[in-house]
Amino acid sequence: MPLVLYRFPITPVIDEIRFMDSFSWPRGEDGEFTHGATDIIGHRGEPVVSTTGGNVVVQCRLGNRPIAPGVGNSPNGGNYAVIADYAGYFHYYAHLMAFPSVRPGSVILPGTPIGLLGSTGNAGSPHLHYQIWSPFAEGEGAEDYRSSVFRRRFRNPVNPFPELARLARAQFGVSPTAAGRYHIPPGQFRC
Ligand SMILES: [Zn+2]
Repeated sequence: MPLVLYRFPITPVIDEIRFMDSFSWPRGEDGEFTHGATDIIGHRGEPVVSTTGGNVVVQCRLGNRPIAPGVGNSPNGGNYAVIADYAGYFHYYAHLMAFPSVRPGSVILPGTPIGLLGSTGNAGSPHLHYQIWSPFAEGEGAEDYRSSVFRRRFRNPVNPFPELARLARAQFGVSPTAAGRYHIPPGQFRC
């Protein structure tokens, strides 16, 4: 089932946010890992909302083995939440400023607030690390290589950028720069 997102994860109210396709950026000492997510650069405290409907994951598992709670704080992801949508994708929101405002098991809708953009964990500056794993796609993947909690838990990351770019155009009316970067100023939400 193709990935469909319904709401851009940030509606900027404080300052401009920006993003580009950072999915396959190399990470690690020799670039042996790829990023596997889209980073959305913004201002600390911007509201982060769910892109889809679904449920907040109670317990992430590798096979039958419990690995980490679906809402928590990890050394690298910082304050994070994982949401399972109805198509089977898992959505990971990391580096939130404070502990997520959603509870494990809660039913959420597109646009439901999750928390606030921040720089907890291994983030060098405020941004949302938004990553999606698919149970369907083939391939080997990993979260940020430094993540001891999430590495190899979900093996099939999907690039969220095409859907984020579509929503940026549809929801905020913005076009990409020549370099492929999207800038979304505050107060541009369209109903
Ligand atoms: Zn990232």
